[in-house]
Amino acid sequence: GDFPIETDTIVIGAGPGGYVAAIRAAQLGQKVTIVEKGTVGGVCLNVGCIPSKALISAGHRFENAKHSEGMGVIAENVTLDFSKVQSFKESVVKKLTGGVEGLLKGNKVDIVSGEAYFVDANTLRVMDENSAQTYTFKNAIIATGSRPLEIPAFKYSKRILDSTGALNLQELPKSIVVIGGGYIGTELGGAYASFGTKVTILEGADEILNGFEKQMSSLVKRNLKKKGAEIITKALAKGVEEKEDGVVVTYEAKGEEQKIEADYVFVMVGRKPNTDELGLEQAGVELTDRGIIKIDKQCRTNISNIYAIGDVVEGPPLAHKASYEGKIAAEAIAGHASEIDYLGIPAVVFSDPELASVGYTEAQAKEEGLDVVAAKFPFAANGRALSLNESDGFMKLVTRKEDGLIIGAQIAGAGASDMIAELGLAIETGMTAEDLAMTIHAHPTLGEISMEAAEVALGNPIHII
Ligand code: FAD
Repeated sequence: GDFPIETDTIVIGAGPGGYVAAIRAAQLGQKVTIVEKGTVGGVCLNVGCIPSKALISAGHRFENAKHSEGMGVIAENVTLDFSKVQSFKESVVKKLTGGVEGLLKGNKVDIVSGEAYFVDANTLRVMDENSAQTYTFKNAIIATGSRPLEIPAFKYSKRILDSTGALNLQELPKSIVVIGGGYIGTELGGAYASFGTKVTILEGADEILNGFEKQMSSLVKRNLKKKGAEIITKALAKGVEEKEDGVVVTYEAKGEEQKIEADYVFVMVGRKPNTDELGLEQAGVELTDRGIIKIDKQCRTNISNIYAIGDVVEGPPLAHKASYEGKIAAEAIAGHASEIDYLGIPAVVFSDPELASVGYTEAQAKEEGLDVVAAKFPFAANGRALSLNESDGFMKLVTRKEDGLIIGAQIAGAGASDMIAELGLAIETGMTAEDLAMTIHAHPTLGEISMEAAEVALGNPIHII
């Protein structure tokens, strides 16, 4: 055989979990190797968060260009060059993945291209097309992420697409059916609706964006409908017939079978952890019955020198969660007392308007028997929101009644994805409504909305009655 290469810490997968873990481990003095079978950056940078946001923001620009008459901006014959939208998206992805590669190299992380497989709890085999190499390690971090679920009646093909296929269409489709009204389906369906595609979303549950409060998701629904999208809830997608130039999707709703024709069908019904082809059994790493790796508060698996982070472990499959766990795992390996604490983890949907949530919702707090104040402040009472012509939406601040401790916040509105960070900080640092209300926020900014919501919680808001 080959001569094994020795390393301190080996990271498998270079997504937002793995590359962050590798950099932090290197910063803490480890000799680090990272193995990636695809492209550095993982799902998030290549076929997830980043390309989807590039398409969504191009969609917003297009719509704003067409519909700013109310602000006196009249643009005639606004057109879309979808191939340029795609090349814009590609250029963003390239800059970021190139940047990450540079960061890994700058931190002296050894980047190995190939597919990793555990031989035992201290040995990995890495294979690429024409070679194989053995690595021995003191510690390993599994960060192999997840892939789209496939449903048997909708086998992926030229016209039956997963999120990756949906992001990479080279021509703008005239019509699409999206199966699954979760955040990925809503975001991508929304982006195509902005470009003028006729979009139909089929959702099995009562509502799209099921995890969010109805008051929030209904704003998104209204805007999707304005863009001509149709949302069919309590719909069961049953099958698809693929034709030369399109698809016919069969679904059941209200007890009746229906058919819709479209250019493509996007299947966005969830993701599956990449834990099945890793040789985990040879290393002795335990999985749950759903194929998720079990970890402790330091991201350690049942095998004490093997850690796991990101989409392969419990919790929301989000990039910032993967990165956070990556830092914890690297610090734990270095002997630090770091532990995961998801209290301040935000969830964001880049819909129109954006939705964001951190900590408790009012309903969740009440379910846990907490006595809370839920204070609401509308975007329509904020000068910046009005001057941006973005007056739709609200913030809801959830505080503990006895002492005003901030325990949660939800925002629906323009800029919600950025605004939620302040509330995450408030929760993380144990701020009260009074602390937030007494923090001077620049005027006029959307940031003032959180200050005003805190004043509502205290019972003395200035800008609403
Ligand atoms: P991944 O990013 O999946 O990376 C895993 C890497 O491991 C991959 O590069 C893979 O090639 C590699 N790998 C797998 N097996 C092996 C092996 N055996 N050997 C070597 N390498 C291997 N999250 C957000 O927070 N915000 C968003 O806006 C957002 N938008 C999204 C939009 C879409 C369309 C999708 C699909 C996802 C989105 N996500 C978003 C989710 C986010 O992409 C994931 O949560 C995140 O990428 C998980 O990071 P990870 O490091 O665990 O794994």
